[in-house]
Amino acid sequence: MKGKISIVGCGGNGLLAAQVLSSMGFEQISVIDGDTISETDLERQSLYSRNDLGFYKADTCRKKIEKLNGLKNVVSYDVYLDSYNIEEILSGTDIVLDGTDSIRTRELINEYSVKTAIPWIMTASHGDMGQIKFIFPGKTSCLGCMMSGRTLIPMNCHYDSVEPYAPQGVSVLSTSMIASFLSDEQVSGDLMFIEFRKMTIERIRIDINPECSVCAGHEYTLLEDKKIKGRQIY
Ligand SMILES: [Zn+2]
Repeated sequence: MKGKISIVGCGGNGLLAAQVLSSMGFEQISVIDGDTISETDLERQSLYSRNDLGFYKADTCRKKIEKLNGLKNVVSYDVYLDSYNIEEILSGTDIVLDGTDSIRTRELINEYSVKTAIPWIMTASHGDMGQIKFIFPGKTSCLGCMMSGRTLIPMNCHYDSVEPYAPQGVSVLSTSMIASFLSDEQVSGDLMFIEFRKMTIERIRIDINPECSVCAGHEYTLLEDKKIKGRQIY
C-alpha cells in the first residue's frame, strides 16, 4: 500500500502497530523512541525478549520486524521526539500514530500536525480500556479542542496498570484506521472510547472549538519551546 507512516513511541500500541503495518507493505514505517527496553516492558510488549533488555526500543523493533518478515521498510530513530528534531523526523510522512504515554509529546505532535496539516491518531490504553482519536487539522477537532475547558484527559499508561490485551485491541483499531485513511476512506474525528471486557465502543463527538489556541489561534507553544530538547517530556 502507498504511504509513509511515523509511529511515535515504540512500547505497547506503537510496537504492535509497527509490526502489523510493516507487513501490509506500506512504503515506509518510521519508529521513534529514545527509551530502552526494561524488565517491566516484557509483560505486554511481546516482540521484546529478555535478550533485548537495555537496548533501544526503536532499533530493536526495526531489527525484529526485518527478521520476521524480511522487509526493509522500517526506519528507526533512537531519540525522543522534541521541538528540535520533529521537523526532520516527521516531514514527508502521510500520517502519524501516537504510541507514547506522554501527554506533552501528544501536544507537541498536535501542534506540528496543525502547523503542517499532517493528520495523526492519538491512542491510549489504561486498565482494560482504550482511547483512539483521529485528528486531521481543518477537517476534525484537534487535541487542543478536546482538552480546552474539558475534563476529557487522555489516559496515560505510564501511571496506571494496563491489561496486556488493551494495547493489542487499540493497535488493531488504529492500524485499520490508518489503512482506511490511506485508502481515501472517510475517517471520523470522534473520540472512540473502548471497554474491552464489556466489548463496547462509545463514540464521543468532539467538535472543532473556535477558541482552540492551537487550531484556531495557531499558538505553537511546545514547538517553539527549545528547552525540551532531547528529553522525554511529560
Ligand atoms: Zn483545536
